[in-house]
Amino acid sequence: MGVLGVFGCKDAAEITYYGLHALQHRGQEGCGICTTDGIDFYRERGEELVTEIFNERKLAKLKGNCAIGHVRYSSKAIGGLDNVQPFLFRHHTGDFAMAHNGNFVNSRQLRMSLEAQGSIFQSSSDTEILAHLMKMNRRKDRIDAIEEALTMIEGAYAFLILTNDKLYACRDKNGLRPISIGKINGGYIVSSETCAFEAIGATFIRDVEPGEMVIFEKGKDPASILFTGEFSHKMCAMEFVYFARPDSEIEDVNVHTFRKNCGKYLAQISPVDADLVVGVPDSSISGAIGYAEESGIPYEIGLIKNKYIGRTFIQPSQELREKGVRLKLSPVQSLIAGKRVILLDDSIVRGTTSKHIIRMLKDAGAKEVHVRICCPPMRHPCFYGVDTSTYDELISATADVEEVRKIIEADSLFFLPEEYLLKAGNRTELCLACYNGKYPTHLYQSKVDFNIEHKF
Ligand code: AMP
Ligand code: SF4
Repeated sequence: MGVLGVFGCKDAAEITYYGLHALQHRGQEGCGICTTDGIDFYRERGEELVTEIFNERKLAKLKGNCAIGHVRYSSKAIGGLDNVQPFLFRHHTGDFAMAHNGNFVNSRQLRMSLEAQGSIFQSSSDTEILAHLMKMNRRKDRIDAIEEALTMIEGAYAFLILTNDKLYACRDKNGLRPISIGKINGGYIVSSETCAFEAIGATFIRDVEPGEMVIFEKGKDPASILFTGEFSHKMCAMEFVYFARPDSEIEDVNVHTFRKNCGKYLAQISPVDADLVVGVPDSSISGAIGYAEESGIPYEIGLIKNKYIGRTFIQPSQELREKGVRLKLSPVQSLIAGKRVILLDDSIVRGTTSKHIIRMLKDAGAKEVHVRICCPPMRHPCFYGVDTSTYDELISATADVEEVRKIIEADSLFFLPEEYLLKAGNRTELCLACYNGKYPTHLYQSKVDFNIEHKF
């Protein structure tokens, strides 16, 4: 999921639209924009891509100098327009809109406690819980109410809250999800990724810190509150490995450089005698370039991705599939045939993609396919907003590296050890829980999933 906020700018809705377009890779299941002109709120949302939902007529209706927007990726497989953000809450103390990236781990407990006190929920999203927590707090001052509500939430979040005269940007105390602040046209922009700043001509200022709430208010410099004294810098490693765009900077590290470093380390610790290095587009291209540079083995565009497959594209029947109809990726046969290929991929989740690609390369005539993965085996589910929430969807939860190699039919397989992820980002902390099971928060209800048998 991705969030984007604009404060104090003419054309706030348009800026949000272009910014969300740059964040589209973070979620394609829905998106929305909510604006305010200081008096009322205006909202448009839907279950399609940014370019499919918005047009000039719709953007013109989104009046005002302040906006928040959201792109949705469902980590709980619950769809429906009710779950598409931003959410808009009407309340006698003042209306407000919210957008959120991440997942709470104590949402069940908070929901039950709030419902017992009379709250009625409109959606199954965690975002609404924060709104109810804020309103359960009888204190008058809104900042205090938000601060107190944030301390009750455990999990991963980057939150934007828009009132008629302020924008609040908040980040969880472990800093699991990224969120950065930029400057544009005399106002401010807040975004899940800095690639949106480039897209709209904004200048990066700084990241929102873990456990911090930044408040934007007209005529004032942004104010900062640390809502907890206990914080860490456990950014989600998968943001660097897979989610973020290569042109984004996360906590002072460029994502392409991080991935390139991962490829370089793989070449150092797991060399192979081969003819070509190929990356699985798009997220593994940087890693493949790093491997090629370090090993001296040429990098080739051996796989081509078709980027224009929408959700409504007709899927081929099994018969057509067997005839070789390939939707997303095609091998470049003339480059691959007769060659020993080193295939770089960012991660293995279920293993189906790797197996499919290795077969495709072998069908195209590859003599050998050696797979190098830019992160460790994913052995544990994620409860922080990534769509890997049970052990049974992770091949490495029950199969060791040699077993995975056999399943995906690779000639060799090597995963980058976790210490190299820290080295690639030149940092001492990251969330690595899906590799090592060391979760940075309590897990509460999420623990039920541990009943599923796993090996590691
Ligand atoms: P598979 O092993 O077939 O499940 O797919 C692995 C590929 O999915 C990786 O190469 C990534 O490009 C991509 N991927 C990794 N993590 C995720 C995720 N949480 N959601 C969707 N795709 C992912
Ligand atoms: Fe990211 Fe994995 Fe941590 Fe989830 S468990 S936040 S995917 S590093």
